[in-house]
Amino acid sequence: MEFCSTRDASVRVGFSRALLRGLAPDGGLYVPCSWPTFTIGDFDGADGLPAVAERLIAPFLAGDPLGPQLAEIVREAFDFPAPLCSVQGDELFVLELFHGPTAAFKDFGARFLAACFQRLRKPGEPLLNILVATSGDTGGAVAAAFHRRAGTAVSVLFPQGLVSPTQERQLTCWGDNVRSFAVRGTFDDCQRMVKEAFVDPQLQAHCNLSSANSINLGRLLPQAVYYATTSLQFFRQHGRRLDFIIPSGNLGNAVACIWARSMGLPIGEIVLAHNANRTVPDYLDTGELRPRPSVATLASAMDVGNPSNLERLRALFPAIDALRDAVRATSIDDAAIRERVRLDYARYGQIWCPHTAVAAETWARMPQSARTGHAWCLVATASPAKFPEIVEPLIGGPVPVPAALAELLGRPTHSETLDASLAALRTALLSQ
Ligand SMILES: *Cc1c(COP(=O)(O)O)cnc(C)c1O
Repeated sequence: MEFCSTRDASVRVGFSRALLRGLAPDGGLYVPCSWPTFTIGDFDGADGLPAVAERLIAPFLAGDPLGPQLAEIVREAFDFPAPLCSVQGDELFVLELFHGPTAAFKDFGARFLAACFQRLRKPGEPLLNILVATSGDTGGAVAAAFHRRAGTAVSVLFPQGLVSPTQERQLTCWGDNVRSFAVRGTFDDCQRMVKEAFVDPQLQAHCNLSSANSINLGRLLPQAVYYATTSLQFFRQHGRRLDFIIPSGNLGNAVACIWARSMGLPIGEIVLAHNANRTVPDYLDTGELRPRPSVATLASAMDVGNPSNLERLRALFPAIDALRDAVRATSIDDAAIRERVRLDYARYGQIWCPHTAVAAETWARMPQSARTGHAWCLVATASPAKFPEIVEPLIGGPVPVPAALAELLGRPTHSETLDASLAALRTALLSQ
């Protein structure tokens, strides 16, 4: 299978190449040139995440050097569960994607990518230098996935003061082959610097750069696996499709769900739940795409004013009306996030992280007509234990901390500050 750029269908590479490049040479994002399609029967006998992953991803790796190692890669990447739990009878569910090492869904993609990268570097080649911009959770997940992996180095860029103290500790507790940079700017600045670094001749000449952002195909594709696995399991049990409400920022998680549905998995409606960063909901409303600076919210991992993966969505649905048929989008402000965390704790005993609360509020606002005949699933993107500063005052008590997270939070931290410019990043990277 080949992958082409969202900007030019004639730019074609194999899976490994797309992973290593991150961004296509013309600045576009890699998407499959053609789509495999599946029937539910194609997954007969495949139950857990690794088994479904192997069948779902196999066509994409056909002919690629990584192909023969797929079974091993998915067993390594999908080694923690993604349980589907009922919240309210058979009409509201939650898919918990936070049982990995850094307690957020990004662990899935990061671990798959790391497992691939480790197998791609040939002995004697320069270190693979992973550059990652993070609005909160990406950096931690990528650092955890690559930490102490031979042949790799990681540089994490995060916006200084704009991630929660608990998130910051997860971004800066690594050392060894992981460097953490606190950038004097926003997430959009971090993302821009990473994009610029990839096309900088000096860095290209001296550093073997690769990306691990959600623009990387190797992060995005494995995220389709938990949607496939969950929807199949639900379909087998209930004979119906599951509808998803996905807390969204850069749209990597949402695009993975849409891809899974396009390939034939039994997924119904998909709602993109955004915080006060309204670029996507406004685009669907008006048909006019107006990227803008991000605004800081309680759901900080979704503070994105110019979502990269929108380019992949538009590649799949070039006409705005087709996109409107495919997804809906909402925008939820901080006051409503707070209120939803409070209300659902009182009502269900569920503790949401602020991102998941955006999805929960989206469901709560749905008219009865949108719920009848549907089974909605909230996608829980992170554990509330990552955001105790926000969540604990709202529920009036402590949030239990998963053991793996407690261990991370207890480590010493270290970071370097950086101006929000390519020049500053270049100096730092060339000095390592
Ligand atoms: C990254 C992240 C999101 C947003 O995911 P995208 O793929 O960027 O849309 C939502 N919630 C949490 C907790 C995240 O870390």
